[in-house]
Amino acid sequence: MIPADALTRLKSARSIAVLTGAGVSAESGVATFRDPDGIWARFSPTELASMDGFMANPQRVLDWYAHRRAVVDAVEPNAGHTALVALERWITQRDGTFTLITQNVDRLHQRAGSRNVLEVHGNLVEDRCSVCEEIHKGEQQLDAAGLPVCTTCGGRLRPNVVWFGEDLPRDVWDASERAARDADVFMSIGTSSVVWPAAGLAHTARSRGAAIIEVNPTSTDLTPDVTWHIAAPSGTALPLIVAALEAA
Ligand SMILES: [Zn+2]
Repeated sequence: MIPADALTRLKSARSIAVLTGAGVSAESGVATFRDPDGIWARFSPTELASMDGFMANPQRVLDWYAHRRAVVDAVEPNAGHTALVALERWITQRDGTFTLITQNVDRLHQRAGSRNVLEVHGNLVEDRCSVCEEIHKGEQQLDAAGLPVCTTCGGRLRPNVVWFGEDLPRDVWDASERAARDADVFMSIGTSSVVWPAAGLAHTARSRGAAIIEVNPTSTDLTPDVTWHIAAPSGTALPLIVAALEAA
């Protein structure tokens, strides 16, 4: 299933950048955003994941994120997450560099043990002050309406995720672009490659000469431009890749 020349290229890599998307989490039982029966098919994105929706009905949005946190808390990282931990260990032991850029907000990569993780869409675990941007976690102060507010400035707290119409966190995005530019192998895993600017990272890597390995059960907008497309779920393909590298 894994092309031999893709393994050869990985074996000689000094720098690997990986972009993961919802498909990786789906194998843990976290619903994906863009499947026909996924989350956004049942709820309006603009009501639940935009500043306008939050301003219009903050309690509904907070309830929704509380539900999503509960869903994520109840699942475990899967074989794909674990293989990415092993891939990071494999290349760092050879003095190479590894950057895991994820569009997922569920923290499953970190729970599995991945270390160098860039969350381009933020995460579900933290809250952020909508006024002073301070990150909050856990205990919260409530206002008269029972809504959580910032203990520093009194501004309303919101989930620390990137909503529709919002920019990606600047530092995280800059680091992601650097990793894509510096990579000799770029892996696009479990992502539909339709959400920009994250989808552009593979093209950035390719324009700098990186080989592109796509792991996704179906073809995507990126597939015509990749070096190798491995048509399998990440939980199946990634353990095979890591086992082959570790055996070499
Ligand atoms: Zn604040």
